[in-house]
Amino acid sequence: MPKVKDPICQMTVETEKARFFADRDGVRTYFCSAACRERFLAQRPP
Ligand SMILES: [Zn+2]
Repeated sequence: MPKVKDPICQMTVETEKARFFADRDGVRTYFCSAACRERFLAQRPP
């Protein structure tokens, strides 16, 4: 199962189970939680 790293908290996220992600410039970034997703979007607004 593919795994990626949450860029906010460095936690490993399984992409198939991930419920929180954001697409930027055609790249999908996964997060462990809505809070991490919001922090990411706040740092780099779309
Ligand atoms: Zn996280």
